[in-house]
Amino acid sequence: MSESTIFDKIISKEIPAEILYEDDQVLAFKDINPQAPVHFLVIPKVRIATANDINEENAKTVGLLYVTAAKIAKQMGFAEDGYRCVMNCNPHGGQTVYHIHLHVLAGKALGWPPY
Ligand code: 5GP
Repeated sequence: MSESTIFDKIISKEIPAEILYEDDQVLAFKDINPQAPVHFLVIPKVRIATANDINEENAKTVGLLYVTAAKIAKQMGFAEDGYRCVMNCNPHGGQTVYHIHLHVLAGKALGWPPY
């Protein structure tokens, strides 16, 4: 696996982030460059570089990203209105940080398609 990313420094608290949720497996924090009124990221604490690295062994951890997104959506009160979960993969997907992360976007009716 290639070198670590900025998200490792957020997990270790070497650099600050606005943390919304944390447990021993996942961390959720606000995106530094929000693309919607609500925009946060949910990441596994163990690094999985891209969606291509999701497999049967780490599928439970990846599932927890969605569990966490739904929990926060309910807590923050936008679950009923709705939201979008996106995981970008590699250059054509727009991935810039190679530690998988679920983008959770909410707070308005979002446009589709995303181009
Ligand atoms: P990607 O482009 O890989 O799908 O998404 C990476 C996301 O991480 C971007 O939305 C970007 O704004 C966010 N991001 C990058 N660096 C930082 C950082 O240092 N702190 C926070 N909170 N978000 C970051």
